[in-house]
Amino acid sequence: MVRAAARQAGAPGKKTHLAETIYDVAIIGSGPAGYTAAIRAGQLGLKTALIERTDQLGGTCLHVGCIPTKTLLFHAEVWDHLKHATDYGIDNVGEPKINWPNALRRKNAIIAKHVKGLEFLMKKNKVTTIEGYGRLTGPAQDGIHTVSIYTEGGGGAAGEQSFLKAKNILVATGSDAKMLPGLEADTRILTNIEILSMPAVPKSLIVIGAGAVGVEFGSIFRSFGTEVTIVEYLPRIVPVEDEEISKELTRQFKKRGIDVNTGAKVEKVEKTEAGVRVTFTDQNGKTQIKEADKVLVAVGRSPRTDNIDIQKTKIELDRGFIKTNEWMETAEPGIFAIGDIVSGYPQLAHSGSMAGMVAVAKIAGRHYRSINRLRIPACTYTEPQVGSVGLTEAAAKEKGHEIKVGKFPFAGNSKATIVDSHDGFVKIVADAKFGEVLGVHIIGPQATEIIAEAVVAMDLEATVDELMYTIHAHPTLSESMLDAYGAVEGMAINA
Ligand SMILES: Cc1cc2nc3c(=O)[nH]c(=O)nc-3n(C[C@H](O)[C@H](O)[C@H](O)COP(=O)(O)OP(=O)(O)OC[C@H]3O[C@@H](n4cnc5c(N)ncnc54)[C@H](O)[C@@H]3O)c2cc1C
Repeated sequence: MVRAAARQAGAPGKKTHLAETIYDVAIIGSGPAGYTAAIRAGQLGLKTALIERTDQLGGTCLHVGCIPTKTLLFHAEVWDHLKHATDYGIDNVGEPKINWPNALRRKNAIIAKHVKGLEFLMKKNKVTTIEGYGRLTGPAQDGIHTVSIYTEGGGGAAGEQSFLKAKNILVATGSDAKMLPGLEADTRILTNIEILSMPAVPKSLIVIGAGAVGVEFGSIFRSFGTEVTIVEYLPRIVPVEDEEISKELTRQFKKRGIDVNTGAKVEKVEKTEAGVRVTFTDQNGKTQIKEADKVLVAVGRSPRTDNIDIQKTKIELDRGFIKTNEWMETAEPGIFAIGDIVSGYPQLAHSGSMAGMVAVAKIAGRHYRSINRLRIPACTYTEPQVGSVGLTEAAAKEKGHEIKVGKFPFAGNSKATIVDSHDGFVKIVADAKFGEVLGVHIIGPQATEIIAEAVVAMDLEATVDELMYTIHAHPTLSESMLDAYGAVEGMAINA
């Protein structure tokens, strides 16, 4: 990365211009939204600059989100399998022990490998990467925007300032973990950042918030032997999922010894001599007190839009999130927003990266189509996994659809038995009249992989009739999709 933008311009002063280059696109933020947009812009022949405030590309997803958590999840899965080694005909594994520093080392090595991969891809696609803090400066002048870049001083206006000219700007600054009022993250009160570098596996952990981030960490650490308590304000965990999925995940979490408290309002989080104490009002109105080594606060993520001079533009905000049209254009001509900062889109890496591709295709005047909100898969990497796309049963009914539902349990799938994971099900919500698939909800083995087939089917507007006759290899977990489509017509073979 070009470390100091001003230095690249060769100018010694405090305020400089970045050479005389006018970029087609300047992207602020190098998370999955920003880096994907940069690569695609390069592929489309656009002169592209990618501005990143830290010294590494990749954003939340690569450094403290998707990649490290899924690495630890894989380690947890291996650990879970080891516990059953004898059942699998493997003796003499001795007494397996977790070597946490090694687990963290592998996680960090995977991150480092992918940072290098991104650097390579930027070079390959002729993207200029610039290390610095980008801010907007206002509307374009004669069709040319200016981004100011501070080389030091983080979010402030301190440090050397330089300017970069571009015909279009993509804002992709991502999000931060929300903290409960009055709390600050440290070694006992954790967000997704601190929990990923704890020196040891905690004996006990309270997770506040049962969205994807909260349940994933709860599930991972439970596998590693931590006593996990989940405290969720809403009446169910993974509240955006189909109700039956929440119910099944709760059942399986309880079976694994996770203490699940829903409808619970946190009143107080305090530090004790050795750990933390969380006081909450439970669903029956009773005060409950739980103590643990650590508490993870996973109550959502706020968009990083408050320190980039948005007010100098016409960009409109909705509770801090940037409003865009379906091509990711903001109200300020030539400025687009993508990723976690956009209003009305899920805060998911693949949603942001596709938004980046849509935006740059629009800029390049290429064939493109906008994102269909109902075709964005949601994956929760717990044990068991959850994968879903489209409408839940309740949402389909609310929208006035007459529906048919098909449900197939993994208990009837031979591969699920082979991999020793036969809890859970596939649920299809289909339009009753034409059989169009409106939603697919999976909880069980490899749900986050199998869901891809449903996304493609729904994107191509496939109907249950057609899908019932698509050939699925045997024995595979994805055969459960075939049976679930059959179940919509009361004709699952294996149930
Ligand atoms: C624990 C956890 C697990 C997750 N797991 C998954 C998962 O499995 N699958 C999934 O799809 N999603 C997952 N997510 C969500 C996913 O990480 C985010 O949706 C994704 O990272 C958002 O991408 P983004 O590009 O919008 O922002 P970010 O990834 O947050 O990247 C924004 C980048 O912009 C930079 N930046 C910010 N402000 C400026 C500025 N002014 N100038 C220059 N640079 C700036 C930041 O340093 C950062 O590098 C997870 C999130 C968490 C917290």
